[in-house]
Amino acid sequence: MGIIKLIIIALLVWIGFSLFKKLRKPKQNLEQSSPSNNKMLACSVCDVRIPENEAILQDGKVYCSKEHLE
Ligand SMILES: [Zn+2]
Repeated sequence: MGIIKLIIIALLVWIGFSLFKKLRKPKQNLEQSSPSNNKMLACSVCDVRIPENEAILQDGKVYCSKEHLE
């Protein structure tokens, strides 16, 4: 009887812990993967390197700013 209770408690703790880990994982993954996902692109006008999310993409070319886009 006591052993079964212990197993159930251990199982519940393990389930709770794995759920807690699952809830925390997406945040950690985002923090870890965002810097590596941030590809650096070179401006086709001045060759300055800028993060992909800040770059202006037009006609398959990369621009660092609106001034270089024109
Ligand atoms: Zn530029």
